[in-house]
Amino acid sequence: MMTEKFIKNEQLNFIKTQITLIKDSVRKNLPPTVLAAVIDLANAKILDLIPNASLDQQKMLDLSKLKSDDEYEQYVQRLSDFLRPFPRVTEQQLKKMFPKNKKLKLPDLSQIDHSQLTYLSWNDLGSNKKFIVYELEGTMAGIECKLTPTSKKNICSFCNGFGEVAYFSTVTKAKKSKNPDYYKAIGNLICTDSSECNKKITNVEYLTTFLKDSLGM
Ligand SMILES: [Zn+2]
Repeated sequence: MMTEKFIKNEQLNFIKTQITLIKDSVRKNLPPTVLAAVIDLANAKILDLIPNASLDQQKMLDLSKLKSDDEYEQYVQRLSDFLRPFPRVTEQQLKKMFPKNKKLKLPDLSQIDHSQLTYLSWNDLGSNKKFIVYELEGTMAGIECKLTPTSKKNICSFCNGFGEVAYFSTVTKAKKSKNPDYYKAIGNLICTDSSECNKKITNVEYLTTFLKDSLGM
């Protein structure tokens, strides 16, 4: 179906990084065979990203024939029309995800662009908390993290981008431990501003690991 939204936010971000790579290679005036190899590799990685793509979708993803900046821009624009939006969640659903938090501060959902969202997140700076919501194995899951501000810019564990980060930690009941009272804290440097992170994230590997660990999955 040509109207099917088949591209995830992080996948389009990944495609954009491949285009940047190609443009950088063009600028370096590489020998034509080397440049062709760079483009081939980028194209293969993009097709690998969505292994179940139909033939029409594969054609749409194919960037091997593109030359000008305009063509790349049109290509990204066209793919943007096929972005799968983040599932709509209601305030009620969010409250249910954090039943222990009686003073839960919710984000203004109407102000969040759901089309370019890998994960939904908001900070409650009054209580130094960050909330992360993500569809994990078909179910919406949420975790609450403690936020500790940092003064230096650093690499974010979710998106691998360099920017304003804070230290986020969450306590998890470690599954492997035989001692039922054993709690393991996990923490990481993650972008403070999740809308920035959502613009940069190119895969969900770390995000899902972090969520699964903290949920004890
Ligand atoms: Zn990030």
